[in-house]
Amino acid sequence: MAEKMKAQVFYEAEKMELEEIPIPKVTDVDVLVRVKNCGICGSDISYYYGLSPLGTPTGKGPLVLGHEFTGEVVEVGAVAKSMNLFKPGDRVVVNPVQNCNACYACAAGRTNLCANLYVPGVTANGGFAEYCISRYTGLFKLPDNVSYAAGAFTEPLACAVYGMKKLALEPGQFVAIFGPGPIGLMMVQMAKAMGAGKVALIGTRDYRLEDGKKMGADYIFNTKDEKSPYYVKNLKEAIADLTHGALADRAIVPTSSNEAFEQALDITGNAAIVVHFGLPNTDDVIHVPALATHTMDKEIRFSWLAPLSWPTAIRMISEGLVNLEGLVSSTVPLADTTKAIRMLRERANDPIKVQVTP
Ligand SMILES: [Zn+2]
Ligand SMILES: [Zn+2]
Repeated sequence: MAEKMKAQVFYEAEKMELEEIPIPKVTDVDVLVRVKNCGICGSDISYYYGLSPLGTPTGKGPLVLGHEFTGEVVEVGAVAKSMNLFKPGDRVVVNPVQNCNACYACAAGRTNLCANLYVPGVTANGGFAEYCISRYTGLFKLPDNVSYAAGAFTEPLACAVYGMKKLALEPGQFVAIFGPGPIGLMMVQMAKAMGAGKVALIGTRDYRLEDGKKMGADYIFNTKDEKSPYYVKNLKEAIADLTHGALADRAIVPTSSNEAFEQALDITGNAAIVVHFGLPNTDDVIHVPALATHTMDKEIRFSWLAPLSWPTAIRMISEGLVNLEGLVSSTVPLADTTKAIRMLRERANDPIKVQVTP
């Protein structure tokens, strides 16, 4: 096998180079994967622009980014081999949040809070490369009917699954989803699949809202653009009209906008559950109207990563409960990764999700 591979190496804000680097060596607990599709996540964009520190000891590069990927098994380390778990040629998806299975949090099933997380693309080299290593415990075989492109959505979908579990949706309920990004669009489909009565999708860009409508949203609202046909000045009134004054039963906020979260609190009714999902910025503080939230007996929950949610996510994809290929707006070669990140940041050509195919 070749010794070197092409990889996009991130050094510092806005500096990422296509280089030839050694193909990583497989240790006993690793499996080497030839990367097929690697999605560009919002956090890759944050890392690229220096908005968030990396998960490396120094918080800095050099590091190969990319954590939402599928691929083909090339080489299997001793442990997985001894258990006959994988063989070369297997189609796999990598769960990049690789917990240690040895700490108290792991032992309690809180794998998202593991004290020793290993995360390809965040703490170690990731998927914007021809090859990447994964621990054998972070690897799942892809069902035959799931393409590499759809499979690369498993990580964000698993996070969405965990958020939706926290939402504790009951059949027939009115659900409000704030933020029609890739996660919000998945949540629209999941809410319908899980028996929501009506789903309202709230955002600020019409093309995204219209995608949401196609994916099953019953109502779409634009809260910013006054020229939009979906514009509403007073969202609470609009939701009250649709619910005979009861307001929304459930709201989930897959965007980091504080304003959206505060709106979610405002437009939910008695005994509502509101899930904070979008990753906040470092100094963000959210304001909770204490008396109304208290006397309406609401619950606010936070959703972080995707503990114990991967099997459900893979099954949802394989059963066709969510349309994911419709979310891929373009696929680019490894050499164009930087260009794609910039395009996503500038929102050129209305992108939803861009995947790199090394
Ligand atoms: Zn991601
Ligand atoms: Zn652990």
